[in-house]
Amino acid sequence: MRSPLISIVIPVFNEEAVLPELLARLTALFESHPESTWRAVLIDDGSRDESGSIIRAHAARDPRFELVELSRNFGFQAALSAGLAQAADSCAVVTMDADLQDPPEAISALVSAWQGGAEVVRAVRRSRSETGLRRFGFDLFHRFFGKLTDYPIEPNTGTFGLLGHEALQTYNALPERHRFFPGLRAWIGFATADVLYDRQARAAGQPQQNFRRLMSYALDGVFSFSHLPLRALSYAGLGIALAGFAAAIFYAIRRILNIETAPTGYTTLVTLVLFLGGVQLIGIGVLGEYLGRVYEEVKRRPNYIVKQNSRGLGPAAPL
Ligand code: UDP
Ligand code: MG
Repeated sequence: MRSPLISIVIPVFNEEAVLPELLARLTALFESHPESTWRAVLIDDGSRDESGSIIRAHAARDPRFELVELSRNFGFQAALSAGLAQAADSCAVVTMDADLQDPPEAISALVSAWQGGAEVVRAVRRSRSETGLRRFGFDLFHRFFGKLTDYPIEPNTGTFGLLGHEALQTYNALPERHRFFPGLRAWIGFATADVLYDRQARAAGQPQQNFRRLMSYALDGVFSFSHLPLRALSYAGLGIALAGFAAAIFYAIRRILNIETAPTGYTTLVTLVLFLGGVQLIGIGVLGEYLGRVYEEVKRRPNYIVKQNSRGLGPAAPL
């Protein structure tokens, strides 16, 4: 029997500072588990530093490493999809960050859980190294997301984890553009196991995902997994309409009974106009979030564009 092919998919964006250590630690992992066939698929997501050439040079020396170069920076989720497509023939695929916050040494535990029968393995953080505002944002999102959707993602999980062949095929066949990996991983189902690990601090360099990117993932997470915002709008509309109706009856009766003598209130009017205007704009904004996503989907543009792929070029013909 051939040993199972396990791929490690890693999106890379401006990570030249951590790459040498990442490649060394992956190689050590591969050497210590000769019972499996290993492959690392590194996706260069339009890096502006030396990341691409570091990986290319390494791939030329060691055929277990592959480089997929995207034509520009498409963002983490798109890069991840590119890697998962490249790894489509694997028996199992491990997804992780390049910055060594997800320690490669935890991979053998993921693989054991998969061999124990799980099709989807999530790495669950025993501890988190982020602090301050970033940490607060992550916590807030997970609490909020859990309340909103039918497929809650476990709060202490991220991208790090493993998909078996079936789960990988299913994920790759999903048609949507706006991809939020942890949410989709929960959505596809399959037997799921959790493995605990300690999340490390970034080995070197700066976080590559800025606040705007993280915010946009959070919104993707909410709007592509929940209709609750739309429903909340309907409820708010209904509530305000009922209150307005009750107020109308109340004031009409006061007029009829001649209790209402005061000139109509300017303050009340201004307050109501501003309040209703605000509610309507929020409503349009929420509709826009969904509409924008519908627009993105119907355009059917690819999630990413591959510029170069080191596969098959082997050591004899480096790129
Ligand atoms: N990354 C990427 N494309 C981007 C931004 C980030 O492929 O546009 C990669 C990055 O190289 C790293 C992973 O995504 O491997 C996670 O990024 P980061 O550590 O900045 O995010 P955080 O840990 O804060 O979620
Ligand atoms: Mg990180």
